[in-house]
Amino acid sequence: MTAQILSARPVVDKIKHGLKERCEQLKRSGVTPGMTVVLVGNNPASLSYIKLKGKLCEEVGARFTLVQMPENISAVEFSRQLEKINLDSSVHGLIVQLPVPSQLRHLDLANMVTPEKDIDGFHNENTQALFAGTTDLKLLLPCTPKGIIHLLRDYDVEIESKHVVVIGRSLIVGKPLSMLLSNMNATVTLAHSKTKNLHALTRKADIVIAAFGKGHHLDSSYFDPATKTVVIDVGTNIIGGKLAGDVDFDSVKNVVQAISPVPGGVGPMTVVSLIENLISAAEAGIKKGIK
Ligand code: NAP
Repeated sequence: MTAQILSARPVVDKIKHGLKERCEQLKRSGVTPGMTVVLVGNNPASLSYIKLKGKLCEEVGARFTLVQMPENISAVEFSRQLEKINLDSSVHGLIVQLPVPSQLRHLDLANMVTPEKDIDGFHNENTQALFAGTTDLKLLLPCTPKGIIHLLRDYDVEIESKHVVVIGRSLIVGKPLSMLLSNMNATVTLAHSKTKNLHALTRKADIVIAAFGKGHHLDSSYFDPATKTVVIDVGTNIIGGKLAGDVDFDSVKNVVQAISPVPGGVGPMTVVSLIENLISAAEAGIKKGIK
């Protein structure tokens, strides 16, 4: 069996096209969607992620601003400056790029961004929608889970009534994703580092989503060809200087129905979902009479 490759490219292009149109519509109403990313210090990896966000903003016609703050900024000064951006009506989406330096780690960053501008989807008011059972991708939901659902849907992978094993229970990927899938009527198993006999779970799963950050850990022994599993690889690890997923793509592609590649899978889906959240935030502002 050779797996279908669930490449992000065609899906991203389609979503981008729709976002461009929504952005033009917003501009006709007098609003140019604006994203601001706050970076404390100048971590090179953060800067390269931010560049991707800026490029995509530009491609859909949105405004992009990078606010760089000094590495040694105090928590008080950081909070003051963040609040200023929260109040700026030309900013529709605000992100604090992680990681932040140690003197800021005690801050409740997720809840310091005003919920209407929280395009990362981390604010309690936004994650609450997941607890309440939403399946509405127009809400400000976390971007990686949202991107994964877009990817599955676009490749016609059925979610309802399927058994999905999500590996990794982080607040940004595994937990919100498991809730979203459950809201979409999947039966979800959320596995983690203390899970026993992961093989037995993955070998029987219709869909396996690997989001645990262990490069090439899932090899072909984790899959039974008879199950025809769909595999989504969220992992971004560096092996031998190259980006690598949590799944050993070369061996696994021969024993599963479909698999998303790394790079070129979940990563680009995450970034486009962030821009989708930005456009949705700007549209919601208009509905509330805020321009
Ligand atoms: P994280 O905070 O790094 O947490 C790792 C999770 O995996 C924890 O829940 C941990 O279990 C679990 N885990 C660790 N080792 C395991 C093992 N051997 N078997 C089963 N579970 C195990 O998670 P994250 O931030 O979601 O990141 C996970 C991976 O996704 C990383 O490679 C990250 O770079 C990548 N990522 C990619 C994107 C993207 O857009 N492509 C976005 C976000 C993250 P415990 O809870 O028991 O410790």
